[in-house]
Amino acid sequence: MTLSPSAPLSSVDLSTRTIAYFSMEIALSPALPTYSGGLGMLAGDTLRSAADTAAPMVAISLVHRLGYFRQKLSSVGQQTESDVPWSPETTLPSANQIISLTMQGRPVLVRAWRFDVVGTTGHIIPVFLLDTDVEGNDPWDRRLTDHLYGGDTYYRLCQETVLGLGGIALLDALACKPKVYHMNEGHAALLAIGLLEDHLAGTPLKDATEADIEFVRQQCVFTTHTPVPAGHDQFGTDQMYQVLGHERGAAIDQFGCLHNGLMNMTYIALRFSRFVNGVAMQHGKVSQQMFPDYKVYSITNGVHAATWLSDQFQELLDEEIPHWRTDNQYFRSVYGIDPARIAAAHNKGKLRLFSTLAKRTKQHFNPNVLTLGFARRVATYKRASLLLHDPKRLVEIAEKIGGLQILYAGKAHPADNAGKGLIRDVFASATKLNSSALKIYYIENYDWELGGLLTQGVDVWVNTPRRPYEASGTSGMKAALNGVPSLSILDGWWIEGCAENTTGWAIEDGEDEAAEATSLYQKLEESIAPMYANPGAWSRMQQHCIAINGSFFNTHRMLAQYFENSYFPPTMVGATVNPVKRRRSTDPVTAEPALV
Ligand SMILES: *Cc1c(COP(=O)(O)O)cnc(C)c1O
Repeated sequence: MTLSPSAPLSSVDLSTRTIAYFSMEIALSPALPTYSGGLGMLAGDTLRSAADTAAPMVAISLVHRLGYFRQKLSSVGQQTESDVPWSPETTLPSANQIISLTMQGRPVLVRAWRFDVVGTTGHIIPVFLLDTDVEGNDPWDRRLTDHLYGGDTYYRLCQETVLGLGGIALLDALACKPKVYHMNEGHAALLAIGLLEDHLAGTPLKDATEADIEFVRQQCVFTTHTPVPAGHDQFGTDQMYQVLGHERGAAIDQFGCLHNGLMNMTYIALRFSRFVNGVAMQHGKVSQQMFPDYKVYSITNGVHAATWLSDQFQELLDEEIPHWRTDNQYFRSVYGIDPARIAAAHNKGKLRLFSTLAKRTKQHFNPNVLTLGFARRVATYKRASLLLHDPKRLVEIAEKIGGLQILYAGKAHPADNAGKGLIRDVFASATKLNSSALKIYYIENYDWELGGLLTQGVDVWVNTPRRPYEASGTSGMKAALNGVPSLSILDGWWIEGCAENTTGWAIEDGEDEAAEATSLYQKLEESIAPMYANPGAWSRMQQHCIAINGSFFNTHRMLAQYFENSYFPPTMVGATVNPVKRRRSTDPVTAEPALV
């Protein structure tokens, strides 16, 4: 992707853009540190699919001048973090607009940088990155858009205020009047308050009627991303009043948006959205139980194929199924490609991963040895150590099957000391167990580039979350596209993607970790290793992964489902002039939009 600092703003008629996508983080380019993990990747992949399919979207996020962080790991796996500074001034064109927001009882000036996501046919999705580092602002306010997920709850609430209220003010200033506002996670929920203020045109918020709220609801849709209650942002009402001021704070209370006496971003988003969804079928159901007063649908996540496919696969597909870039359904036709060519393309990805590791880390891996990959945000529920639960058994398997290599990667949030301990645990196991048969290695600084190398290069992708905490997961989808099967707990997307012995293997549910580890070792020894030893069978499995899972778990399909079910469902067609009143989310369910 090229970054062109001096490029003039290409002409995009913002007045024709009907969907505004708001996300706290968006992975826009491997060169920009504007994301932390899965949520930002999903946002970026969504916009890349929107660009490829010429969707009428714009997007709003924050500039994150110091990024999330760069991870360093000491020889015992102790994580330290450093900033990733970048300069939008020398990287991106300005949107040439400065808006002013009143927050914390004072004005805060906000400007925006524009990043263009350019699709395969040239269609542009403009992304506006909000920036408070503006001359004239209070010095503290100038730092508000520096650190993604940094600071304390007060800092976070200020950031979410800039995102929601600042985003709406910017779109107003740019004369962009979308019909649909998509909150990608609750961080963006304050956009609803911005829309309501616009609609009231000077009438105090406290005088808003149920019809005014309904007017805003008709324009908002919300995607929730975590089944972990602690994952939903909430703030004390003292902070709410301090940051938003009395009028907005009192209105949020009056509109019934407090939850357990706290300002909860998820409940604001629920209250103000006409459509709400989780990110996999099971996650939608779990979220429905968490929020019984609201109807929650499911739209399963995907990944942007052209972003995650290795160069070798892209060449092969360009030759065999040439229109896959705009229409991912062609992945189903991978059954027409000789499996040996698929295996050869994958092997190149494996060699590229190993040569990169040799250069970067001086570690050498054997391309003829079965290699497992485990890379994800380090959180206790992801259970990075399940694979190492019974070291003796693991070593025995490695010796019996002719060797085993395990690659780990992942960052712990800087404040998550338990997570940092898990990284040290993996290092300790590696030191103890590494031998001629077994090699375990933890690669530092998991990011976009490493995520690509790993999902294109390992043989099996491993995922071991504690059910039902994995909302979806997307790294296994990247692996599947590259012909890499998963060995995973049946959670998140894998419930929908697992065809046993065909696209991968399920780790059976067990009473405890020991039982689940036993199932994992059994699959490894009795199913995976024998198939790996049979290249013909393995290559057919690689083909199934792409044809069955690649053709579905992609953001082209996902975005089409958002259009059909969330943005412009059949019940809404023709409703743009005089919005058809849809049932309140608390009313009994009568008809559900069809989920394909
Ligand atoms: C894809 C990706 C993720 C999300 O993957 P999960 O399966 O949700 O863990 C996180 N970080 C990076 C760098 C990625 O590429």
